[in-house]
Amino acid sequence: MSVVAKIEVTLLGTGVGIPHSGRAQAGLVLTANEPLLFDCGAGVLLRLSEAGFSPLEVDAVLLSHLHLDHVSDLLPLAKARWLLGERRLDLFGPEGTGAWFDQVRSLYPYLEELDVSITTVRPGDEFFLSGLKIRAGEAVHSLPALGYRIESETRAIVYSGDTEPAPSIRDLAEGADLLVHECSFPEPFSVTNHSTPRRLGLNLKGAGVKRIVLTHLYPQTIGREEEMVRDVRVGLGDGAWIEIGRDLQRIRI
Ligand SMILES: [Zn+2]
Ligand SMILES: [Zn+2]
Repeated sequence: MSVVAKIEVTLLGTGVGIPHSGRAQAGLVLTANEPLLFDCGAGVLLRLSEAGFSPLEVDAVLLSHLHLDHVSDLLPLAKARWLLGERRLDLFGPEGTGAWFDQVRSLYPYLEELDVSITTVRPGDEFFLSGLKIRAGEAVHSLPALGYRIESETRAIVYSGDTEPAPSIRDLAEGADLLVHECSFPEPFSVTNHSTPRRLGLNLKGAGVKRIVLTHLYPQTIGREEEMVRDVRVGLGDGAWIEIGRDLQRIRI
């Protein structure tokens, strides 16, 4: 494993399936050596370009789950690479990813030319990509879903995907330098499959995460951003830096 000092995370999409201004659907790109793309919802391909990345740079995509707001731009990304002369793509995702990809791709015969390697990732799996150690954890959502912990020798970053506040994601986030966690709705929404600020804060209490960035924001969060940050802190009770993420925000860890 090569030594990677700093890692840069660029939030590409901090929104959800219901559109609202300024927030594309889910996606972030993490750069240490080669860029790794996590999720690829609608709008992420454009955001990649706005963030200065060519589709050719993104050889590996890791999916948290298969909901449309996390995968809609994956075929357009593969097509953009194909148009630019690159057929290869390495795809990682939860159970069902291979069957889903094959079915969608079969609707577009010319995409059969793509050389896509698909790795099914299960909770607890560990592997290396681009000089980084990746560990998957089980998210609590309405279908098989994963969170990912990405580690260099000196840094740890965690992306929750879509999840309720869950002990498995807390374990994944233990001591992380950065946690990008979904927080779909403000208080006092009562939801399953997604996170709200106080329960999220409580779930992370004592986990020692240094910086928490909230993402996957439904339109109901508009104008409630500061209050959501305060509500996470009420549950958390310690001194982590907490903020609302925004599209194209770069975070160097
Ligand atoms: Zn989802
Ligand atoms: Zn989602």
